[in-house]
Amino acid sequence: MNTPTFTVIENSEIGNIPHSFHHTTQKESIQQDLLLLSNKLHNTLDIHTLIQLFTKEVQNTFHIAKVFYSLPEEGNNNTCKESPLHHCYYQLVLGEQSLGDICFTRLQAFHDEELTVLENYLFSLLSPLRNALQYRQAIQASLHDPLTGIKNRMAMEQSFAREIDLAKRNQNAFSVIILDIDYFKKINDTYGHHIGDIILKSITKTVTQCTRKSDMFFRYGGEEFVLLLQNTTQKGAEKLAERIRHTVEQTNYLCENHNITLTVSLGVSNLTDAHHNAETLFKQADAALYYAKEHGRNQVASY
Ligand code: GH3
Ligand code: MG
Ligand code: MG
Repeated sequence: MNTPTFTVIENSEIGNIPHSFHHTTQKESIQQDLLLLSNKLHNTLDIHTLIQLFTKEVQNTFHIAKVFYSLPEEGNNNTCKESPLHHCYYQLVLGEQSLGDICFTRLQAFHDEELTVLENYLFSLLSPLRNALQYRQAIQASLHDPLTGIKNRMAMEQSFAREIDLAKRNQNAFSVIILDIDYFKKINDTYGHHIGDIILKSITKTVTQCTRKSDMFFRYGGEEFVLLLQNTTQKGAEKLAERIRHTVEQTNYLCENHNITLTVSLGVSNLTDAHHNAETLFKQADAALYYAKEHGRNQVASY
């Protein structure tokens, strides 16, 4: 079984020990509180809710002003160290797995016996936190394409309607681009599937370099990609599509020992009508893409 460990990196100066923590009945009541807390924390797999529940509990018990939690991939949480309040800081580790770090701030100094109880509270957090992190990882994986690392079709379907609603509500321009690699089958047939995979990753990189951070980019499937563009007019989307087309055409993709050139075709559609929805906008961009393919490939067509 994994042994939970806390790495106490820092804590504030030691003050007086409250007598209440020495009392046996108080100890029993703490144990009961911990059991209740543990049951409560096991009821959610959502990290935000979990930390909120835990925060509420420690705020009541330890007069904590604020709790700062950061995810394992966010690196060390330094915000609380800048706080003028007293703080204590823990790295949460279960077995070999980092579960992030957590910091507590409050007006009064923390003292040893209190920290021991607080650490027991942290013990109750470890296993639900590990479950929530694993759940989050599984959700993230189901929304990403493992080959290119960008979001997949399922993620696009989840975002599409919401983005259109947002654009309509804020009266923003909104455009869609579908990109399809030309004669991609030939690349697989000539150089092998492995090189085809490298090309898919390289195209992803090229498109990412041509777009803004706010543009949403998905691998729809095979060698087809979709861009959802908030605050982008039809003209703007056409310009972007042309920039992508031109960049791909001009790039020598060096894959192992092969110097490969290729082209892409792109279809553009734009939100113009209150009745437009994800399905109709996608169909229009797809129809434009079909037109581009039919009319010689390596081109941008607009619906
Ligand atoms: P077009 O210009 O009409 O789009 O021709 P195309 O050859 O690109 O289109 P087609 O639909 O005939 O072929 C798509 C190819 O994409 C066939 C399939 O093997 C390949 N493909 C789909 N997914 C992957 C993948 O993940 N990796 C690799 N290497 N190839 C893939
Ligand atoms: Mg295709
Ligand atoms: Mg293709």
